[in-house]
This record gives sequence, structure tokens and C-alpha cells, in this order.
Amino acid sequence: MPTLLLTHPACLLHDTGQGHPERADRLRAIDDALGSEAFARLKREEAPRADLAVIERLHPAPYVEAIRAAMPKRDYVHLDPDTVISPGSWEAALRAAGAAVHAVDQVMAGVAQNAFCAVRPPGHHAEPARAMGFCLFNNVAIAALHARVAHGAERVAVVDFDVHHGNGTQAAFQSDKNLFYGSTHQMPLFPGTGAASETGLGNIVNAPLAPGDGGEQFRAAFVGRILPELDAFAPDMLLVSAGFDAHKADPLGQLQLVEADFAWVTEQLLEAATKHCGGKLVSTLEGGYDLDALDRSTAIHVQTLMQAAS
Ligand SMILES: [Zn+2]
Repeated sequence: MPTLLLTHPACLLHDTGQGHPERADRLRAIDDALGSEAFARLKREEAPRADLAVIERLHPAPYVEAIRAAMPKRDYVHLDPDTVISPGSWEAALRAAGAAVHAVDQVMAGVAQNAFCAVRPPGHHAEPARAMGFCLFNNVAIAALHARVAHGAERVAVVDFDVHHGNGTQAAFQSDKNLFYGSTHQMPLFPGTGAASETGLGNIVNAPLAPGDGGEQFRAAFVGRILPELDAFAPDMLLVSAGFDAHKADPLGQLQLVEADFAWVTEQLLEAATKHCGGKLVSTLEGGYDLDALDRSTAIHVQTLMQAAS
């Protein structure tokens, strides 16, 4: 079974304005990187729109309607100082959530072994009723709830290696013991949540790293904290918030990861998925703002997914 790659041109039309780090060129860089011969075996599909009913399993309907109503006819609207929307943002947000949901459908149906969603806007900072940190809808959390409702996956895990803590995913999961959220992230850093003491019902595992930490500390956090807890949780489906802004070249964080660290963590997560859920893994793009580091890191992440699928 192949690795599935989902994206959509509408994700390029979410315009965040001059100088914003979360920009369409990020997806163009990824598209270039994944266009080479090495990726010929990917099964490529355009992301469908997520149904509003699927989004509203996580986000209250009045919130979804408020986001839709906030879309400008021209120029930009700031939902907060970081989170900017433009006329193309609604369609992009539906496709970004729809990619993760469709990836879950295809992997659960056995059409693909695993999947990567190259989409924007990202999702992990979006709380059930609050857009923030470049995020409108929490793509990965919507997909996790979909895996349960549509496919009977009782226990769903999200592992997040973005340099920022996924406060939105934690907020969505912390009161439900059949959802697991494990995260490495830099602290202190935006959004300020993610202390090791934030454990939910025992289903939240935060392993904060200090500015300047690199691959050694990152791998130790996974080996010592996240992977054992993920193993004990024994998911029926594993989702990944794949942010590549913990790379040493990234302008938004001070962690010092390199491409080999992203390959390593991908291998570890695939191993956990193989052990517990037949290798079913869906990864979706979060951050990553240095274009060269982003395209190299995404390429090695997707290559590692493909090796497990062949
Ligand atoms: Zn980030």
C-alpha cells in the first residue's frame, strides 16, 4: 500500500500579507521538494473540503459561522495580532481540515498505509472556540474525532513535534481519556502552555525543551517520556502534528534539530503505529518557516513514511 500525499491549490490562496512567516511559499517549497523522481511512488490526491458537520464535532457551530462571517471580500482581517485571513482563507481552511479527514478515511479503509497532508493554514493552536497562532480550524484534532466517529477507532493519539506547544489540541483532548496528546516544544515560547505538569486525565504528555536544545535532548524526551506513554496508551490510530520549526535554521524558535532528527522521530512513530495499529499513521503539516529547512525536512519525513509503506 502506498503513502498518500494530500494537498490542494486553494491552500496557496490563504494570503496572510507581506512579511508574514506563514506564507504560501511554504507549500510551494514542499511541492518542489516532493516533485522529484524519488517521490514518484506517492499516491497523490487533491484534498476535498471538510464537511461543516465534521468540523463541528470539534468547533462549536457559532464559532465556525463566526470564522466564515469574518472572511473579508478584499484585503485582510486580523483575528488576532498573528492570525490573518483574506478572501481565500475559508476555502483553504476547509481543504486543510478536509485533507486530514480524507487521509484518515483512506488509511482506515486500507487504501493507503500512511499519509502526509501538505496544507495550510496549520491547526494545532486553534482551540475549540478560538482561532490563534496562524490557525483557524484544528485539522489534526478534527481528524482524530473523525477517526472515532466514522471508523470506530476507540483510542486516538496525536504526537506533535512542532517547536510550539499545540495548545488547541491539548484543550480539545484534555478531558477525554481515550484521546492522547504528546508534545515536544520549546519553553518558554508562544503560546506559553505545555508545562510538564499539564497532564489532563493522564492522557496529556508534555515534554518541554529549553532554548538551544538539540537532537540529543529531543530524542531523550521521546525515549524517556512520549514514546513509553504512547506505547501504554496503545492507539487504534496515530496522527502526527508535523511542524518543522524546531529546525536549527528556523527563525521562530531556538531549538537545534536537523533533518536526521525528523527522520528519527518519524521512524519511532511508525514503529509505534506498526506495533499498535497496523501502521496506520496520518501526518499533517503544522509550522516550519525557513523554506530550505522546511523542504528538506518535509522530504525526509515523507521519504521515511514511504519506506514504511513499501
Ligand atoms: Zn510552530
